[in-house]
Amino acid sequence: MLEKGSEVGAHILSGAAIDPKALDELLPQWREQGCPLAEVPVTDNQHWILFKAGKVAVPHFITPKFMHNTGTYTGSLGNLCRWLASQAEELGVEIFPGFAAAEILFDESGAVLGVATGDMGVARDGTHKPDYTPGLELHAKYTFFAEGVRGHLSKEIIRTFDLARDAQPQVYGLGIKELWDIPAEQHVPGRVIHTQGWPLKETPGSNGGGFIYHQAGEQVAIGFVTWLSYTNPYLSPFQEMQRWKAHPGIAALLKGGKRVSYPKPDGVLTFDRLSSVFLSNTNHEEDQPVHLTLRDPNIPVEYDLPMFDEPAQRYCPAGVYEIVGVSEGDPKFVINAQNCVHCKTCDIKDPTQNINWVVPEGGGGPNYPNM
Ligand SMILES: Cc1cc2nc3c(=O)[nH]c(=O)nc-3n(C[C@H](O)[C@H](O)[C@H](O)COP(=O)(O)OP(=O)(O)OC[C@H]3O[C@@H](n4cnc5c(N)ncnc54)[C@H](O)[C@@H]3O)c2cc1C
Ligand code: SF4
Repeated sequence: MLEKGSEVGAHILSGAAIDPKALDELLPQWREQGCPLAEVPVTDNQHWILFKAGKVAVPHFITPKFMHNTGTYTGSLGNLCRWLASQAEELGVEIFPGFAAAEILFDESGAVLGVATGDMGVARDGTHKPDYTPGLELHAKYTFFAEGVRGHLSKEIIRTFDLARDAQPQVYGLGIKELWDIPAEQHVPGRVIHTQGWPLKETPGSNGGGFIYHQAGEQVAIGFVTWLSYTNPYLSPFQEMQRWKAHPGIAALLKGGKRVSYPKPDGVLTFDRLSSVFLSNTNHEEDQPVHLTLRDPNIPVEYDLPMFDEPAQRYCPAGVYEIVGVSEGDPKFVINAQNCVHCKTCDIKDPTQNINWVVPEGGGGPNYPNM
C-alpha cells in the first residue's frame, strides 16, 4: 500500500461524525482493541438554521433519519486511519508512507499492470540532484485506486476506460475544518451540531452547511462544506469556455458577477489563509518540478484574468495562486506550489480545466496530527 503523505493519516481530514458500520463488519472487536474512535460516541444531535443575528433550532423529530447520527462516533479520521494502518500491518500488509503512486502501468493488452512511484531528487528544472532515486514499478494482480475524491490516477483510469460514460455529471464539495480548544464548561463530548444558512448564504451561488463536533480533550471540530458548482453542471468547463467564446455578448454579461467583500481577519475568531496553512504543517521539497501543471501557460493571464479575474486567486484555500504585476501593466501568474494542501480544488474548479494536479515528491503536503 502506497501513501503519499509522510505517514498514514498525515493527509486525512474529516469533520468527523463517523458511521462505524464498516468497522463493525470488518473488525467487530474494534471498540475493545484500542481504536481511538471508540472514545466519543455521539450522544446529542442538534440542527440549527443560522441567521446573521442568531439561530433557530430545528426540532430533531422533523429532520430526516439520515441526519440523526444514531450510532455514530466523533473523533479524528486521521487517528482512525493510523490505528487501521497498525491493524493492517499486523495482518501482514506492507505499507509504504512517503511514496506517491505517480503513474499507471499498462500491459501490452492495455490492462492495468500496476503503478510506478514517483522519482525522488528531481530539481525544479527537471535535472537530477545528487540524491536522485528513480521510481519503482509495482506490478500486481489487482490494483486498487483509493486516492480520495479526485485522484489524479483515477482521473486517467476513468478517461482511459470511459468509466463515466453512463454516469451523471460529477458533483464536488469543498470542506474546511478547524480544531478549537474550548473552555471545559462549554465542552459536551459527543454533541454534534449541523448548521445551514449564514454565512454561506451571503456568498452568491454557494450551498452547503456547517458542523460543530465536540470531540475528546475539550476540543471542538468546527467547519463547513460547500459545493463547488460550475455555471452549468451539464457542460464541462471546457465546453462552457467554447460556448462563451462563441457568444461574446453572453460572456460579457456573465462575467459581471457580484463581488463579495469579506471583512479582514481579526486574528481572534477569523484568520488569514497563510496562517491557517502554517497550522497544517504543510511542507514540500522546494527544489522540485511544480506539481500544479498548466496545459497552456498563457490561459491564466490571457483568458482567465480578463474573463473571471482569475478565480484561482480566491478559491485556492492555501493561497497558492497569485496574479502579480497588474498595476505595472505586466500581469504574471505565480504558483506557490510549496503551500499546496492537496485539496484538488484547482483541478476541479479551474474554468478551462487548464490546471492539472499531479503528485509532488512523496512525503510532501500537509502533516495533520489529528484531523
Ligand atoms: C471538512 C470535512 C468534513 C467532513 N465530515 C465528514 C463527516 O462528518 N462524516 C463523514 O462520513 N464524512 C465526512 N467528510 C468526508 C470524508 O472525510 C471523506 O469522504 C473521506 O475521507 C474519503 O475517504 P477516501 O479514503 O475516499 O479518501 P481520502 O480520505 O482522501 O484518502 C485518500 C488517501 O490516499 C492518499 N493518496 C492520494 N493519492 C495518492 C497517490 N497518488 N499515491 C499515494 N497516496 C495517495 C492520500 O494521501 C490519502 O491518505 C468530510 C470531509 C471534509 C473535507
Ligand atoms: S490542490 Fe490546488 S486549490 Fe488545493 S491547495 Fe493545492 S493548489 Fe490550492
